[in-house]
Amino acid sequence: MSNVIERVVAHGLCCGCGICAGVAPCEMRMELTDEGVYEPTVPASCTDCGVCLVVCPFASRPSPPTQSPLGETLGCYVGHVADEAHRRQAASGGLTTALLAELLRSDEIDAVAAVRATGQHSPLFEVALLDTEEQVLGSASSRYYPVEFSGVLRQMRQRGGRFAVVALPCAARGLRLARKRFGWLAECLRFVIALTCGQNKSTRYTDHLAWMSGLRPAEVVEVDYRAEPAGRADDFVFVARDRSGGEGRPLPFVSSPVARVWSGRFYSLSSCMYCEDMFGEYADASVMDAWLPEFRADVRGTSIICVRQPALDEAMQRLREAGRVQIEPISRERAIESQRFNLRFKSVELAPRLEALRRQGVEVPTVRIRPRARPVSLMNRLQQFNQRLSARATPGSPVVSLALAVTRAVTRLHRLAMAVRRRLPGSKGDRQ
Ligand SMILES: Cc1cc2nc3c(=O)[nH]c(=O)nc-3n(C[C@H](O)[C@H](O)[C@H](O)COP(=O)(O)OP(=O)(O)OC[C@H]3O[C@@H](n4cnc5c(N)ncnc54)[C@H](O)[C@@H]3O)c2cc1C
Ligand code: SF4
Ligand code: SF4
Ligand code: SF4
Repeated sequence: MSNVIERVVAHGLCCGCGICAGVAPCEMRMELTDEGVYEPTVPASCTDCGVCLVVCPFASRPSPPTQSPLGETLGCYVGHVADEAHRRQAASGGLTTALLAELLRSDEIDAVAAVRATGQHSPLFEVALLDTEEQVLGSASSRYYPVEFSGVLRQMRQRGGRFAVVALPCAARGLRLARKRFGWLAECLRFVIALTCGQNKSTRYTDHLAWMSGLRPAEVVEVDYRAEPAGRADDFVFVARDRSGGEGRPLPFVSSPVARVWSGRFYSLSSCMYCEDMFGEYADASVMDAWLPEFRADVRGTSIICVRQPALDEAMQRLREAGRVQIEPISRERAIESQRFNLRFKSVELAPRLEALRRQGVEVPTVRIRPRARPVSLMNRLQQFNQRLSARATPGSPVVSLALAVTRAVTRLHRLAMAVRRRLPGSKGDRQ
C-alpha cells in the first residue's frame, strides 16, 4: 500500500480538491504551493491505511460506470433566474445559486459549501459554509482559481447537520467516493452540485491576467472573471482591483488575448490534461453555460441544469412556479452538444494522452475513456508544453509571451487546415 503523494501527486495527477485531507485519519493538510496549486502534505507517521487513495478521484474509480459523459439524468432545463441583478452577477443564468438558495429556504439543508471571496491576496477565494440565502446568492459567479475542501469537510463532521456542496467534477467525484466510505458524510452531505468543467487554473493565471490589466499581481485583492460582456455572452470580462482600490483595464475574454491564455492551456492544472469528467456525472446535478447558438446572443447569461435527484427536480419546479426562474426543458443531447468543444479534449483526444501516461507506468482510473495508442495531436502537444512551461512562469515572462505567439500562429494554421478539410469533396465535416 502507499499514499496519494506517491500514487497521485508525484505523477502530476492531483487536482488539489482536498477531499483526502478532509477525511483522512492522519494529520494530512492542504498547502498552496509556489506553483499556485493546492497539494496535500502527508505526515511522517503515515500508516499506509489507504484512506486517502480510496477517496481520491485520480486514484479510485467510482462505480457503477455510466454510459454517457452526462451520466444518468432525470431532466435537463435551460434558463435563468428572474431577478436581473442576480442574473448579472451570476456566472451564466444563476440557476446554481438559485437552486442552492431554494434548498435552504425549503429547509432541506442547513448550509451550503460554496466559494467566496476572501478580500485578501492569497488566497483570493476559499470554500466556506454559507448559512443564509444572502450569503449563497453573494457567492454567485465562477472562479477560475484553485480551491480545496478539506477545511469544510472537517467543519461538516464537527458541526453535523445537512449540507449541499457546489464543486468541480473532480471534487464531486472525490465526494462521492468519500460519501460511500464514510457513514458520517453519507448522513450529512445531502446534495452535490457540479459545475461542468473544461479545465481549472493555478493562481498564476489570475496573476497573469492582473498583470495584463496593468496591475501589480501581488497587490490584487478582488477579481471578477465574468463581469458582464458588451457583445455576446462568451465575451465575459476580467476585472481586478488592488489594495488601494485601483481597477485594472477590463479584459474581455474573446476580444483580448485572454482566450489564447485560456485555450492554450497556460497555467492549467496538470491533472486537467488527464481528466475525463466534463459534467460531474456522479453529482446530484450538473450545471453549465448554455453554449448553444440561440443563447449566446443574450449577454446576461443562460444556464443549463441537469438533475439526477427527485428532490432537486422538485426544487426546480418550485422555483419555476414561484416565478424565481424562467426555465424550459432541454434534451440531454442538446446539453451535451453545448460542451462539444471541451468534450473532444476529454474524450477522443484524451485516449492517446492516457496511453502516453500508461507507457510511463502511470494508470488513471477512468470510467469510459480507455488509453489508446494513437499520436497525440499537434494542438494537444502544444497545450501540454504550454501547461508545463507556465507552471513556474512569472506574469509577463518572455518565454510565456513567445509561447503565446507560437500558440496564436499554430491555432490560426489549425483553423485554416480544418476549414480546407471541411471543404474537400467527401468530407464529413470536422472529424478530428
Ligand atoms: C474552473 C471552472 C471551469 C468551468 N468550465 C466550464 C465549461 O467548460 N463549460 C461550461 O459550460 N461551464 C463551465 N464552468 C461552469 C460555469 O462557469 C458556471 O459556473 C455554470 O454555468 C453555472 O452558472 P450559474 O450562473 O448557474 O452559477 P452561479 O449561480 O453563478 O453559481 C456558481 C456557484 O459556483 C461556485 N463556484 C465558483 N467557482 C468555483 C470553483 N472554482 N469551484 C467550486 N465552486 C465554485 C460559486 O461559489 C457559486 O456558488 C466552469 C466553472 C469553473 C469554476
Ligand atoms: S495515514 Fe492513511 S490517509 Fe494518511 S497519508 Fe497515510 S495512507 Fe493516506
Ligand atoms: S484527493 Fe484530491 S487533493 Fe487528495 S491527492 Fe487526490 S486529487 Fe489530490
Ligand atoms: S478539468 Fe477535471 S481535474 Fe481539472 S478542474 Fe476540471 S474537473 Fe477538475
